[in-house]
Amino acid sequence: MDESITLTSTTHANGTTSEAITCKAAVAYGPGEPLVIEEITVDPPKEMEVRIKILFTSVCHSDLGTWLGTNEAQRAYPRILGHEASGIVESVGKGVRDVKAGDYVIPIFHGECGECIFCRSESTNMCEKFGINPMKRVMESDGKCRFWRSEDHKPIFHYLNTSTFTQYTVLHSACVVKIDPHLIPLKNMPLLSCCITTGVGAAWNTANVKPGSTVAVFGLGSVGFAVVEGARARGAAKIIGVDINPDKLTKGLMFGITNFINPKILDMPVHEVTN
Ligand SMILES: [Zn+2]
Ligand SMILES: [Zn+2]
Repeated sequence: MDESITLTSTTHANGTTSEAITCKAAVAYGPGEPLVIEEITVDPPKEMEVRIKILFTSVCHSDLGTWLGTNEAQRAYPRILGHEASGIVESVGKGVRDVKAGDYVIPIFHGECGECIFCRSESTNMCEKFGINPMKRVMESDGKCRFWRSEDHKPIFHYLNTSTFTQYTVLHSACVVKIDPHLIPLKNMPLLSCCITTGVGAAWNTANVKPGSTVAVFGLGSVGFAVVEGARARGAAKIIGVDINPDKLTKGLMFGITNFINPKILDMPVHEVTN
């Protein structure tokens, strides 16, 4: 879709000249309504912001829930969903030091300002500015959008500090992290934005799995498999996968489960199984 991208030079009030980008995005207009692929304008990044060209993006269940409008308080339209992606930095705003144009990055929906009481705490990373917040729909710095419908220049809301169902997006620099594009294929990198960090972090940080321990993982979806990976990496001796889908046994073994329980074929509660 690259042929649909155009650059428009814009002079800003502060005297700097940068370019708005016209590109395509998938825009949500209402609960459960099909996303509309349409032309949008993406503002240049402001101070401490980064504009990214999205290379790959994946769909998470959180996107699905927001698209369906399951939680009415979180509804906001039109909106660009998506929070798992890999991309390349196209330009950076004033003050950005951590990344530069041409760097490969993944977006982080749970960013860290590095300065608030929570970021400085050793007990939590629930940043008060950039922590996960599905209610937030505008940029932190000025409370405005960076996306506009080309047709009528109406603003389009952001999602989870990221909004990746678009060819270009703007994020705060606290919500991007540089990656080495040679480590794994870029098309697989979006999973690092959400399910892998969620699952591995649950085993590594929250449960703090110790070598030789026994771990049970209920539900072997992408997050569950990542928990298995985290437990395996921390040296768990026994990793019990629990899932009602028998096909998860084969995949589970690939990720490191040592035992598998399918509650549907049990004649006793899961916690009474002894082997
Ligand atoms: Zn997710
Ligand atoms: Zn913070």
